[in-house]
Amino acid sequence: MVVKTVPRLNRATLEKQQRTFGVGPYIMLELHCHSQYSDGTLTPTQLVQTAAAAGVKVLALTDHDTMSGCLEAAETAQGYDLTLVPGVELSTVYRGRSMHILGFYPDGDRLEAPLRERLQGRKQRAQQMLDKLHRLGYALELPQLGEGVAPSRPHLARALLAAGYVNSWEEAFDRFLGEGKPAYVGYAKFSAEDGIALLRSCGAVPVWAHPYLFAGGPVEEVLPHLVEAGLMGVEVYHPHHRRSQQERLQQLCQQYSLLITGGTDYHGPGLGAKALNSFALPMSLLAPLKAAAAHLKFPEVG
Ligand SMILES: [Zn+2]
Ligand SMILES: [Zn+2]
Repeated sequence: MVVKTVPRLNRATLEKQQRTFGVGPYIMLELHCHSQYSDGTLTPTQLVQTAAAAGVKVLALTDHDTMSGCLEAAETAQGYDLTLVPGVELSTVYRGRSMHILGFYPDGDRLEAPLRERLQGRKQRAQQMLDKLHRLGYALELPQLGEGVAPSRPHLARALLAAGYVNSWEEAFDRFLGEGKPAYVGYAKFSAEDGIALLRSCGAVPVWAHPYLFAGGPVEEVLPHLVEAGLMGVEVYHPHHRRSQQERLQQLCQQYSLLITGGTDYHGPGLGAKALNSFALPMSLLAPLKAAAAHLKFPEVG
């Protein structure tokens, strides 16, 4: 799937986003987090409650390769002073390395079938890793996961820990599950370009998640290719980005006319994670994101 023509974002909107960033009382926007439907520890309801208690006003649920938690989260959000942004974090591959692409405001109906396929792929991958562990002498069963839950390595790490095969989460990755380790199985090939195109075709704004965690090349070199493929934004604020990296990403967003997003990539309490809302991101980041999503769905308007 290749995007032939990539409509550019409206420059005035972008400039407004970039100009207003850094001013005003910013409490409240959280655009990257996970529930139990992927590798988070909270249910969507608990997540929304935790976010509301932390002062979040707008929360995007971005589970890996599934939107299964969005409905519950949106319903719970109605009871709080909180708006739920439907989202997803697609697992893709770029230059042979794992790359995550966030998608905001997808049309859930259109994305459902392709995601179901992806979910099936993740289930197979988890099973292949279990088989490898079994052959290594570590028999395990995957913990019971709900229907729409995408199994991932943290689930396996938890199972290894529970079985007493390892003493820590880190040990599970260092000895078995990390890239290149004996129980590792690579992702089914789903290129970043295809992921970006899929998101756009479902009306979702594609955003490169945590670029400085990408291991397949320098951000400056990779970004232009992604932009060419239709990327519309970059996750500038992420717990793994240093301040200097955030600043560099801001510059790049300006240079390539890209939207800015951010979030704590929250997976639940007690995992050494930043608390929800700890970036206190300004609401001004939201409107351009919303406008871009609307433009993808209804290109003739505005
Ligand atoms: Zn990610
Ligand atoms: Zn994430």
